[in-house]
This record gives sequence, structure tokens and C-alpha cells, in this order.
Amino acid sequence: MQDILVIGGGINGAGIARDATGRGLKVTLCEQSDLASGTSSASTKLIHGGLRYLEHGDLMLVREALREREVLLRMAPHIIWPLRFVLPHSPGMRPAWMLRIGLLMYDNLGGRKKLPASGRIDLRRHAAGRPLAPELVTAFEYSDCWADDSRLVVLNAVDAAERGATILTRTKVVAATRHDDHWLVETRDAAGATRTIEARAIVNAGGPWVDAVGASVGVADQTRPVRLVKGSHLVTRRLFEGEQAYIFQGPDSRIVFAIPYERDFTLVGTTEVQHAAMKERPTVSADEQDYLLEFASHYMAKPLSAQDIVSTYAGVRPLLDEAGKKSSEVSREYVLDLDKSGAPMLTVYGGKLTTYRTLSRKSVSKLQAALGGSRRPWTANSYLPGGDIENADFDRFEDEARRRYAWLDEILLNRLLRAYGTRIEKVLGPAQRASDLGRDFGAGLHEAEVEYLLRHEFAATTDDILWRRSKLGLRLDTAKVRSLDRWLGGDANAASM
Ligand code: FAD
Repeated sequence: MQDILVIGGGINGAGIARDATGRGLKVTLCEQSDLASGTSSASTKLIHGGLRYLEHGDLMLVREALREREVLLRMAPHIIWPLRFVLPHSPGMRPAWMLRIGLLMYDNLGGRKKLPASGRIDLRRHAAGRPLAPELVTAFEYSDCWADDSRLVVLNAVDAAERGATILTRTKVVAATRHDDHWLVETRDAAGATRTIEARAIVNAGGPWVDAVGASVGVADQTRPVRLVKGSHLVTRRLFEGEQAYIFQGPDSRIVFAIPYERDFTLVGTTEVQHAAMKERPTVSADEQDYLLEFASHYMAKPLSAQDIVSTYAGVRPLLDEAGKKSSEVSREYVLDLDKSGAPMLTVYGGKLTTYRTLSRKSVSKLQAALGGSRRPWTANSYLPGGDIENADFDRFEDEARRRYAWLDEILLNRLLRAYGTRIEKVLGPAQRASDLGRDFGAGLHEAEVEYLLRHEFAATTDDILWRRSKLGLRLDTAKVRSLDRWLGGDANAASM
């Protein structure tokens, strides 16, 4: 019998599975598709307090999120790093003094230690002004962090598994029967095989599918109403030099980010559009694309066009419905409902990537109180796999790795260090030269890395590898993708074809 069966392998499900396993509970996680295949690979990828949420008065949420930035930076300095944001000030925005006060609050609300404070910059002199429209004269800058969202999910799942959890991908929860002290949960895998798992408690971490999961396990009437809000992003060719990101604010108070992405690209987003139902896969509409291009063009010296777009993606937020409020005004606060009318069931509503660890900690504490058990929360001072980098000093770690792996191309080495941190040793194995890594499927994706992902990170398909374990899908053309696909299907000559 399992103590907890977690439904959903997004950031919240994976975080809860990890936390619970570390507290000695027996856990199984079921994900209907791949880990992070839902909203958790389609975010803006920021570990942030959310300047905008400060405006809406969500002070507790902003404080919790700001505090988490430095905790997560220490836990996973390979996949999470500081990012400096430039907020150009233009006529029609709130007065500059008001923005300055907001940023001072942002600086001080969350016990900031490592991240630099906010400041004011003169765009006519500062390098960050170069790509911007010449009429923009003043800007503010502040700090937040960047995270590889889908790898954050995968690393939580890997750590949970290494601590004893069972992670079942491509396994959908299709039904459940509730008893006084346990659940019988029916699952179906990709081959159509069904299985019944017995668990003392279940967690609905279905994200935007929260109501469908509630219906499958027979508690549809207890699920709160959620509003599905789609957010879309454009990946463009690199639009500007430098490591800074931009946050543009429109006259309608909406904001759009332009963020350096995967070395050669820029990420532009996001929109906020009602999404009818999760039966429909979220995609970026032509209207959203035009809106983002126009919004960003307003601030850039050189306007953007559709030709700049390399790729797009959209994700859906499940926001707890607050009648009468615009989607941008609905709180991003999460809610945890523990239902004990029979064997316990915890339902997770909402949340942010940034607060997944505290959400997980509170979830497991609630479950422990219901199931018995008193192991203390432990994740605040833990590392995610590969994150045990001395003093969380990535630059020094990279310098040492450059000496150690002098035979490896610098760009490839940087990508591998960013993805795997100290686990690069496991990825490269005994290799002494590039040819020891096996065939190159393109953009430096070698057989050794693919095998590591299949063996240790629950990857199974080309999409798992190219879009969620890495973002190499941006770089591989169709022929190369097909070649990897064939290799995964067992064709050993595929890459040389
Ligand atoms: P999901 O990641 O959607 O996971 C739910 C999982 O449940 C899915 O993988 C799904 O396949 C699985 N599932 C569903 N039904 C079943 C079933 N029956 N059986 C088994 N599995 C099932 N937050 C930030 O902190 N920073 C940001 O910059 C940020 N940007 C965002 C931008 C956008 C456009 C959006 C939409 C959200 C953003 N967020 C951000 C919020 C953040 O991405 C989400 O809060 C988070 O990813 C939600 O994770 P989740 O685990 O709840 O849901």
C-alpha cells in the first residue's frame, strides 16, 4: 500500500512527491504524458515575486515568492540564475517616483541577500538603452531569477525517485474508489494496460486538468470552479545583445517580457486569454502573435515582424475563479484543500513555479497531519540533482570544468553544465574525447546524453528530449529530428543517414 498517490507530474506534483518521499512516506506519482508536459514547460520561466502582483496587493504571495528566489538559487544554481530586468519608463505609465517606491518594496520585502538592489538608469548612456526606441530616456532595473521550468520538474522527480518514490510517466489516472482508510486508484498506461494502485491518500495536482481529475476520482462536486487562462510566448531570433531582460508595460497595465533565451534567441510573452477547456491543446493564435509583436515593437528601436519568430508555445493557468475580476487581476495565490470525508484527498489549485517548494511543503505537512507522521520539513537546505555546486558559485564551477573537460567544445560544455550541474560526470561517463560520446544527432546532442536521459530522467520520446529535457528542438531541423526518432525506435544507423 502506498501512503500517497500523486496525480500529475507538473512542478507541483513532482515537488510534493519529492517532499513526501524525503519525509519517509511511500509515494507513487502518475503522469498521463511526460513530466512537465502541461503548464510547467510553458511558463515564462521566471522565479520572481511578480512586480505586477505587488500592484494588486498580493503582499503575502509576493513576499513568499521573493524569499523563495534565494532558496531555489542555492538548491539548483545550474538551472536557476539571477536575471537583471530593465523597465523603461514611458509617458502614460505610473509616475517614476511611484515605480521607485514599488521597486524599493520589492527589494526589501523578501530578505534579499545575493541579488543586487534596484536602481535607475539613463538609457541614453547605458548599454541596455541601445536596442530600445530612442525616445525612451529613463528606465529602472531590478533583479529576479530565471529557471529552466521543465528541468526543474524533472529534477524534482529524479530526486523523489532516488529517495524511493515510484514515478510512472505515460500513466493516466482514469478512476478511483474511495474507502474510509484507503483509495483504490485505477490507472491506464500508454499501451492501454490498466492497473489498480492502493493508497492511503491521493493528491490532485492536475494543474489545469484539476476538475477533470476530480471527476475521474469521483469528487467532481467538491472541486472549486477554476478559470483557465492561456498565456502565449514567441521565441524569436536574438533581438538584443547583453544579458539583461526587459519588462515592457503597456497603457492597459499589461506587461510583456523580452528575455534572453537559449543563447541565440529571445523569449517574448505573454498574453492572457480565456481558454475554453483542456480538451483543446493550447496554441498561439494569430491575434496573440500580432499583439505580442506590436507590443514589443513599440519599445524596440527596430520593430519586430513575423519573420523574427522561430517558435511559439502556449500554456494554461488554472486560476481560482473570482467573479467580476479580469484574468490579470485574479490572485495567483494557491489554495490547498484537504478533504477528509473518507480516505484523505488533497487538491492543489493554482500556484507558481516560484512557490512550488513552499506549496509542496505545506501540502505534505497537511497530509502528514491526516495520515500520522511528524517528520520535519527538509527541502529548504537541500539540493536538486546536480545542484551541489560549491557555494552555489556557477562561474567558478564552470572555470574548473573548462580545465577538466578541455577537450569539450565550450558551448556544448556550458549547455551540459547548465542542464546537469555536477551530474555532468554521469552524462559524460568515462569519455576522454568528443568521439567517445557516440553519434551526434545535431547541435551537440550526443548518444551519451540521450542514453543518460532515457536511463535517469524518464525521457522516452524525441519531444521529451528536444523540448523538455533540453530546448534543442529550437536547433534541430526536421531531418535530424527524424533521425533521432528512428534511433530511439531502435535503428542504430539513424544518425549517419
Ligand atoms: P501542470 O504543469 O499543468 O501539471 C499538471 C499535470 O497533470 C500535467 O502534466 C498533466 O499531464 C497531468 N495530468 C492531468 N490529468 C491527469 C490524469 N488523469 N492522470 C495523470 N496525470 C494527469 N510561474 C512562475 O513562477 N513564473 C513564471 O514565469 C510563470 N509564467 C507563467 C506563464 C504562463 C503563460 C503560465 C500559463 C503560467 C506561468 N506560471 C509561472 C505559473 C506556473 O507555470 C504554474 O503555476 C505551474 O507550472 C503549474 O504547475 P502544475 O503542476 O500545477 O500544473
